[in-house]
Amino acid sequence: MRTRGFNISRRALLRDTVVGGVMLTWPSCGTRQPVDTAGWHTALGTEYVLARRRWAPRTAAELLDAVRRAAKARRRIRMTGSGHSFSDVALSDDWLLAPTGLARLLPIDSGSLRPEVDASRLVRVAAGLRVRALNDMLDARGLALENMGGFDGQTFVGAASTGTHGSGIAFGPLASLLVSIQVVGPDGELMQVEPENGVTDAAKFVGRLPEEPSISMTLSCDTELFNALAVGLGCLGVIYAVTLRAVPKFWLVEKRTLTTWERLIADNGMLSRLVRGEPIHAPGEDEPDHVEIYYTPYNSSDGTHVALVTQRWRKSAKPAHAGERDRGSPVFLPEEALTVVADEFGILQPVFAHLTTAAIRDLHINGLQHMAQDYYADVSYRIFNIGLLNLIRTYGVELAFDLACTKEAVEQTFASARDLAAAGWHHSAPLSLPYGQNIHAANNSNIRVVHWAVHAAFSRVNCTIHGTYRRPTPRKLSSSSRYSNI
Ligand SMILES: Cc1cc2nc3c(=O)[nH]c(=O)nc-3n(C[C@H](O)[C@H](O)[C@H](O)COP(=O)(O)OP(=O)(O)OC[C@H]3O[C@@H](n4cnc5c(N)ncnc54)[C@H](O)[C@@H]3O)c2cc1C
Repeated sequence: MRTRGFNISRRALLRDTVVGGVMLTWPSCGTRQPVDTAGWHTALGTEYVLARRRWAPRTAAELLDAVRRAAKARRRIRMTGSGHSFSDVALSDDWLLAPTGLARLLPIDSGSLRPEVDASRLVRVAAGLRVRALNDMLDARGLALENMGGFDGQTFVGAASTGTHGSGIAFGPLASLLVSIQVVGPDGELMQVEPENGVTDAAKFVGRLPEEPSISMTLSCDTELFNALAVGLGCLGVIYAVTLRAVPKFWLVEKRTLTTWERLIADNGMLSRLVRGEPIHAPGEDEPDHVEIYYTPYNSSDGTHVALVTQRWRKSAKPAHAGERDRGSPVFLPEEALTVVADEFGILQPVFAHLTTAAIRDLHINGLQHMAQDYYADVSYRIFNIGLLNLIRTYGVELAFDLACTKEAVEQTFASARDLAAAGWHHSAPLSLPYGQNIHAANNSNIRVVHWAVHAAFSRVNCTIHGTYRRPTPRKLSSSSRYSNI
């Protein structure tokens, strides 16, 4: 690892910052920082932990202080994001930091950038800033995230750290937008990590935090370490801030078409062509930038599986009727709202538990029919966000695989859905296939797989199946089961 003024090898850093948290030392006494000793649970109540100690640092100095105290106390310490991972990935029963006091944009040290870097596109984001607030701040500057997932409630850092992705074969997950990461290492040292030939000119690097100049930091230009940190699952130190490369604000035009899985995978079907790398439209028609497929894993009486293809085209100028119309059919929004309310009052799960597979399939088909629409346009981040449906509490399952394996992978979900249905488990919503580009080292963290094998296709175009299961019952976990699978 090449560092400037920082004497630790990458191997030593990885060894010392063991998986599951940073191993650190015993604290000295009192602190001025807010301390909350109550339990912490994920946003959806899927995981709970009673941490030994909880802190919410408000500045870099407070964060470094917390990590140094933990180091002295030989405690493990990690930081959560907004708790939207379905799994136990953010849990620690030792010291748990909350990023809520670090929810802001930070200044860029533009004097240290290489001359060819366009500083107006770089945005420095502190650990606690959520995607929703970030989108608004970028919009106000005429900028946008190049891509995002279907939800905006996560912290940007938490979402990037877990390989959160959207769709679009040309676009990577959130982590692929990062150009620089500022992370606190095992002894409470602040390090700025970038790939080799990154945005910072090492000769101009002053080694001071722009917003808190009393804090020194070192620069490490190491592509492998950078990639590991970009999707580090909170295992490689506490990230204080990241710098991302934004793009000029853009709009999306969306079209959603009802079809069947069997039509999509016919020899000349859209999916077969997409997998073969062929254009999916006739010559002269615009190819979409984003393709996503929703499908029900439960077959209709004729043996087919109803599916919905979403295509999105990126537009640099505001398209006609952007943001003016409702998304989906007139009943889609009320239906969505009703489902969210039913979930909130605890009605959804008992109802689902008593439905037959055919009834659930019909609910899926009904939802897909109401989502179908020839034209819908809005600013990018409002289209990427799937909206109210995010509020329904479910287990999420994500599987990543190579694009070429799409047919086999989806057919495996049909078989698995049949087996799960026989055991009384149903997919409460259709599954989705967002096609996206992996970055080197990108992976998904929130994998709660019942029995499917998971293949992460590093550095290749891949595809992910999203599935949802009926709502989990929040529960307090004993220490023995805390880290086991649901
Ligand atoms: C409704 C909903 C919709 C979703 N939609 C999508 C989607 O479209 N695409 C997709 O890919 N995923 C999606 N997800 C998954 C979600 O994006 C990820 O689970 C994401 O990690 C959540 O971010 P968070 O801020 O809640 O992080 P948390 O869940 O709180 O933490 C995630 C991990 O990041 C680490 N971490 C967070 N902050 C720091 C830090 N400052 N330093 C070091 N480590 C840190 C934590 O320790 C933990 O290991 C969705 C989840 C939900 C609940």
